[in-house]
Amino acid sequence: MHVFWHQRDLRLRDNRGLAAAATDETVVPVFVIDPEVRNVVGNRQWAFWLAGVRALEAQYRERGSDLLVRVGDPGTVIPAVASEYDADRVYYNEHYRPVRRERQRAVDDAIETTAVTDLTLVDPAGLDARYANHSRFYDDWQAREKPAPVPMPDAGSLAAVSDGQAVPDPDADIDLPAAGYGAARDRWERFLADGIDSYSDTRDDMRAAVERSVGAVSRISPYLAAGMIGIRELWADATERYRAVDGDARRNVEKYRYELSWREQNYNLLAHHPSLPSENYESFPNAIAWENDPDHLAAWKRGETGYPLIDAGMRQLNEEGYVHNRPRQNVASFLTKHLLVDWREGLAYFEAQLLDHDPANNAANWQWTASTGTDSVDVRIFDPVAQMAKYDDEADYVTEYVPELRGVDPETIVDWPTLPGDERAALAPEYPDPIVDRNRAYERAQRVFETALGKR
Ligand SMILES: Cc1cc2nc3c(=O)[nH]c(=O)nc-3n(C[C@H](O)[C@H](O)[C@H](O)COP(=O)(O)OP(=O)(O)OC[C@H]3O[C@@H](n4cnc5c(N)ncnc54)[C@H](O)[C@@H]3O)c2cc1C
Repeated sequence: MHVFWHQRDLRLRDNRGLAAAATDETVVPVFVIDPEVRNVVGNRQWAFWLAGVRALEAQYRERGSDLLVRVGDPGTVIPAVASEYDADRVYYNEHYRPVRRERQRAVDDAIETTAVTDLTLVDPAGLDARYANHSRFYDDWQAREKPAPVPMPDAGSLAAVSDGQAVPDPDADIDLPAAGYGAARDRWERFLADGIDSYSDTRDDMRAAVERSVGAVSRISPYLAAGMIGIRELWADATERYRAVDGDARRNVEKYRYELSWREQNYNLLAHHPSLPSENYESFPNAIAWENDPDHLAAWKRGETGYPLIDAGMRQLNEEGYVHNRPRQNVASFLTKHLLVDWREGLAYFEAQLLDHDPANNAANWQWTASTGTDSVDVRIFDPVAQMAKYDDEADYVTEYVPELRGVDPETIVDWPTLPGDERAALAPEYPDPIVDRNRAYERAQRVFETALGKR
């Protein structure tokens, strides 16, 4: 008998650890509600995961088995389950978040284990620990073989157990998308049918983002982050599509496959640098002179900075737990550059709010945007006015989330932070004034980062 320990891999299909555990043996599957992990997961994501655990439990039950749900420290719970079912080995998929690594090591110390690479297409251990930039990573990564999805284990290899334990209800009543593999697959199929062939051309289309059209971007991130669908399954389908089409469609599909390589690189970073969520990846000759003004941080969190694109992004985050990638980059840049607030503050807030929070993607992207990570540009600063002019010039996205600006001419909204105060007050009296001056904040950020880099 083997035990399979589910963590952030809430699925039966394309689950490499589960498939390995079920090879020539019967498997008892278990999920542990770990109070310490619970403490580092936002309420929204936690509720989504619990719904995913419930969906997984139903899948096991349909196959004459059951998911054991236990509460406690996996370092003691998992060996106890193994001994209860007379299992001689525990399988799990390797997770890289520091708190999970500690748990995995505690289980390794207590019982025979097999850790399996599942979260990524290419095992981080087989890649370099450091690449100068994404292109270097990509060149190496794309040349590696990508394994095919693994099948679901046969019902016969799942232990005929029955567990009386109920999956607890979430702490709060939160509006969530449907959870579990079926919902993930459904979303993915809609994207394969309606989106992937035009992904590169439409991914920054903010009107589509407002309409939550599945086509423009896949919105698969909450499912990937919870492991409700496997990465090899996405890759295999995208690759099949890539081979089936040509011309523009092929270029678009390739862009989607390329985006997945960012996730792979971020996991590579986290696997080799466990301090990625807490320490600057790059070292600086001088300390970065963060301002860390608590009022600025609070205004940013509320979406009340007086910068329309930033406020729309933050309000989307607060309302939905999701932010489109374009505003996501902008809000992160604004916090760390225009406001000079330490990226770790932004990371923590995203972690608490995002439905798709992913320890590797969040940490690596915050560091990239804050210019402390792997970006090949020394100091990257997004200008929120120019970004809105380029990507949301009709103000579709901004007016969806910032009702105070509805009815104002879009061109005026684009220029909002640069308008005279009395003009702004007359047009949208309820909307806050910009909390920093656009040019002065930009120049100050440039100065602070160049000083940290020793260039001044
Ligand atoms: C500051 C900041 C924090 C972020 N935090 C997270 C996070 O916690 N979780 C998360 O999944 N993504 C994060 N991202 C990356 C990106 O914004 C999201 O992956 C994307 O918006 C999810 O929407 P989607 O699934 O529709 O993306 P699509 O455009 O459909 O892309 C498909 C998939 O490709 C991957 N991908 C796309 N862009 C990136 C990227 N820049 N970095 C890594 N992977 C990418 C994701 O797995 C994504 O689900 C962050 C980006 C920034 C700038």
